[in-house]
Amino acid sequence: MNKPTRAPRVVISGAGVGGLCLAQGLRAHGIDVAVYEADRTADSRLQGYRLRIDEFGRAALAACLPERLYALLEATSNRLYMPRGVTYDEQLNELGAHRPAGTPLDPARASMVVNRRTLRQVLLTGLREVVHFGRTVVGYEAAGDTVHVRFADGASEAAEVFVIADGINSLARQQRLPHAQVLDTGLRGVYGHMALDAEALSWIPPELLGGSRPVLGPDRRTLALGVFRPRTPIPEAVRRHAPEAELDPVGDYLKWTLVAPAEGYPVPEDELFAAGPLQLHALATEMTEGWHPVLRRMVARAHRESTFALSIRAVPLPERWEPSRITLLGDCIHATTPVGGVGANTALRDAALLSSHLATAAERGTHPVAAIAAYEDAMRGYAHQAVQGSLRGAETVFRARRLAGV
Ligand SMILES: Cc1cc2nc3c(=O)[nH]c(=O)nc-3n(C[C@H](O)[C@H](O)[C@H](O)COP(=O)(O)OP(=O)(O)OC[C@H]3O[C@@H](n4cnc5c(N)ncnc54)[C@H](O)[C@@H]3O)c2cc1C
Repeated sequence: MNKPTRAPRVVISGAGVGGLCLAQGLRAHGIDVAVYEADRTADSRLQGYRLRIDEFGRAALAACLPERLYALLEATSNRLYMPRGVTYDEQLNELGAHRPAGTPLDPARASMVVNRRTLRQVLLTGLREVVHFGRTVVGYEAAGDTVHVRFADGASEAAEVFVIADGINSLARQQRLPHAQVLDTGLRGVYGHMALDAEALSWIPPELLGGSRPVLGPDRRTLALGVFRPRTPIPEAVRRHAPEAELDPVGDYLKWTLVAPAEGYPVPEDELFAAGPLQLHALATEMTEGWHPVLRRMVARAHRESTFALSIRAVPLPERWEPSRITLLGDCIHATTPVGGVGANTALRDAALLSSHLATAAERGTHPVAAIAAYEDAMRGYAHQAVQGSLRGAETVFRARRLAGV
């Protein structure tokens, strides 16, 4: 390896949670970075759900974001809480919990909940000149110390380090690690959300308003509930912490995700994914018939036009690979199921770790591939645990067929 004398130019594929956090972290260390995103604009997709950010995600964001942007993110998130892992049956009888109610708040281990779109908008703040929308990365060519990142439009871009962060369907990952597999859990979900206004608060039991609340119904149907209630109204948080940030106002909401095996839906799979939001909402209504009236009401009150369907897939960590100037982070290399809320946290943890290793290498003048090797070594350990834990969680909460370790 030749010893470089300056920071490498880093190109990132994908302006998702992980790619943007990495870009923020690298910029904080003065490293030249460019991010290429397939979506035409930041608003191309709904990006509309809540994310639990655990202690690792919080630490990663605090490390990568400028202080005032992290303060903005905290202000636009739910209050810190201790996840309890409480579950209910479809008549809202409590089935069990990992932690008892009233567990004292331990700030070092607590979680916060962010609105995914708000998180992305915070992460995009200050990166306008760095993030290029409407650019689909299709692969790369490595030539000596340079990587030529290739785009769908035929153009290419030179980098000294290329980070693949473009999610579960990544094309560049298929080139870098052709042996990596996407695991279809066989589970499908229908997502909906409703406004959490004063009227809704009058009939929703307060114990359902904490962290994630999975309701384990019959026929392996699960309705996972969760709320987003920012500590500070978003426009006020922007004014107070970072007036330059462009955040859409978002009101309090309650989301539900109905999860069932594909064969447990009353329609064939192709119809599920061809269905419009109103049909999906009608399906969710039909599949929760006879459930507790509060749950039925949550489904009935949803903003029907925003209902969407999703497949639950994962990427178990592939066999060890040789480090190079082309590395990976986030869902493209270790996608998890939603159980436990760890996917984004693991992507954020990757971003903080990789930016810190690359920054140290730049400061010391050591080779970026050595930094990447150290990052990949550590990432493999915690990411393997995250994926396998989420697969075991899917077996318990969604009552999926055996997934972990397969
Ligand atoms: C319903 C649901 C709830 C979830 N809840 C939680 C939670 O509570 N906590 C948690 O930690 N995780 C949660 N997750 C998981 C979390 O959303 C993901 O793990 C996280 O978004 C992964 O980040 P990423 O940056 O790797 O990928 P992504 O966020 O998927 O970003 C990838 C980006 O790459 C872009 N892209 C794709 N292809 C290309 C291409 N060829 N070229 C350029 N750009 C491309 C995409 O448009 C996208 O912007 C949840 C997921 C779902 C579906």
